[in-house]
Amino acid sequence: MSEHEMAFIATNDIASVTRGRAMRLADMGPTSSCGWVPANLGIGPFGKIVDGVPFGSVGDLRLRPDMNSLTRTEGILGRPALTTFLADIIHNDGTPWDCCPRTFLRDAIRDLSRETDVVLSTSFEHEFTMVTDSDPEPPFSAQALRRAEPWGTELVRVLHDAGFEPETWLPEYGEHQWEITMSPSDPLTAADRAVMLRDIVRDVTHAHGGHASFAPLLHPDGSGNGVHVHLSLHNSAGDPLTYDPARPGRLSSIAGSFAAGILRHAPAIVALSACSDISYLRLAPHRWSAAESFLGEHNREALLRICPTNESNGKDPASQLNLEYRAADVSGNPWIIMGALIRAGLEGIRENLPAPEVVTVEASALSEEERNRAGIVSLPTSLSEALAALEADRTVSSWFSPNFMATFQAIKRDELRVLSDLTDLEKCERYTHVY
Ligand code: GLU
Ligand code: MG
Repeated sequence: MSEHEMAFIATNDIASVTRGRAMRLADMGPTSSCGWVPANLGIGPFGKIVDGVPFGSVGDLRLRPDMNSLTRTEGILGRPALTTFLADIIHNDGTPWDCCPRTFLRDAIRDLSRETDVVLSTSFEHEFTMVTDSDPEPPFSAQALRRAEPWGTELVRVLHDAGFEPETWLPEYGEHQWEITMSPSDPLTAADRAVMLRDIVRDVTHAHGGHASFAPLLHPDGSGNGVHVHLSLHNSAGDPLTYDPARPGRLSSIAGSFAAGILRHAPAIVALSACSDISYLRLAPHRWSAAESFLGEHNREALLRICPTNESNGKDPASQLNLEYRAADVSGNPWIIMGALIRAGLEGIRENLPAPEVVTVEASALSEEERNRAGIVSLPTSLSEALAALEADRTVSSWFSPNFMATFQAIKRDELRVLSDLTDLEKCERYTHVY
């Protein structure tokens, strides 16, 4: 390690941007922290503190690095190694700040384990697109994979060395689109990895002279970049709890209740997981994202998809069966998304909600009556509809402090105002350069 290596102490905020401060790693001790400013939470995706946030020029906070969240990246072409610590935001006396997104997730995990014996195994799956004028390679093709070298191998190597357990790396369906998945882990680790992964991808790509964007769409007619969240339930002894071959979709009763809690609050949760204006161009029918709220078996247009299991060579499906939440994209803060899914699922378990009906065919093939029976409802079709749904859902709003909700709504309303005169293409271009 170089004596000059930097440590970056960082949070990720409502705009889903990772921000923080750096110091020399050698100067860091186990109780080190650095100053932070409450009004920073009011910085929107376009880089300004928006009007109407409940924080002004007065006040100070601290970023307290979580020593377990350490990520070291090294060997990136021409760049020094960097150690990043993700931080919880605290007051100067060490008490938690009630607007800290990471603390929001920690609290949700704590409540799940206080009230149930459920432990979640989770992972975020990311898609992103290279910004380039060159001709696209064929989807999923060997030539796409090889022509992107040595960048691709370096990216997967950096993620592996950082302990992120990359699983699959693929040229995706969209033009110049890529996907990376990571092995399941506990929810805080998975969300920390999601926060970090985006900037690692941008860093490696930039070092190779490219520009990677996770924007939900780079072009209104292009393929969407989704962030899919996988969740499975276990007990504290590690036994799988999601699988029950006797039930529809092989989904256990407790996992069904967890899913029902999420579907009950879906319109409000979508506001937290797909938070950009153009997120709602992606969340449209026939885009393999999620335009409607339902539980679908192996269905890529379901808000909650029951994923397939690999039973070749006698592999056990019980530990593999998982739910995939498909209505997230880069504009949602991973700690907030994960915390909201846990809080909604916990509510479903607490109230012992019946499992939603499992849709086993294309939803478009269902009659009106069958759709009603399966509880299929449209999701918000715009950010403003989603924000209204969030405001109207007292339960979901109550998971957050009033200051957090006020800041969230102010940022998002400002975002809509800034973009209001732009075409869809111009909006995509704005977000391409933010994300
Ligand atoms: N690109 C799709 C999305 O926007 C997902 C495609 C897939 O199933 O991987 O979510
Ligand atoms: Mg994909």
